[in-house]
Amino acid sequence: MTAQPHDPELERIRAALATVHDPEIPALSVVDLGIVRAITRAGDGTPVVRLTPTYTGCPVAALIEWAVRRALDAAGFAHARIETVLSPPWSTADITEEGRRRLREAGIAPPVEREDEEGFFCEDPAVPCPRCGSQDTEKVSEFGATACKALWRCRSCREPFEYFKCVPRLRLRRGAETPAG
Ligand SMILES: [Zn+2]
Repeated sequence: MTAQPHDPELERIRAALATVHDPEIPALSVVDLGIVRAITRAGDGTPVVRLTPTYTGCPVAALIEWAVRRALDAAGFAHARIETVLSPPWSTADITEEGRRRLREAGIAPPVEREDEEGFFCEDPAVPCPRCGSQDTEKVSEFGATACKALWRCRSCREPFEYFKCVPRLRLRRGAETPAG
């Protein structure tokens, strides 16, 4: 995310956005999730929040934008504008380091990014257990509590855990954003 140097109002907007949590992954704010691409100012000085939607088919995108609008209004930024940015598309690689730390704290294994995978979600990589760090894990079910997560189990500590599935960047809007080559 790009931030402009020392603009107190934009900093307060950023703080307000840090309180907006993903409905499906409550451990993550929209900032942690990496869907806030920029907090900036338009030519006329109006604060602008640039949001990028998460993966197609996840019905929460509209809900997230609504929650961002509500948080901005509640924090006194009713004049701030929300713009949708479609390119580059969001991927799980955009989840911040802080976001990955929060996921592990919540017992959810953060996505393991891999290049050049076929299919909508990356194929299953070795997913380290978020509790004990063991690589001796196995997938139990493709879908956990939400479609974005799979259910895994650790053979070392014997605890089940959720894995936030990798969403590769170039497969999000097939046809709409075909990369050259
Ligand atoms: Zn474990």
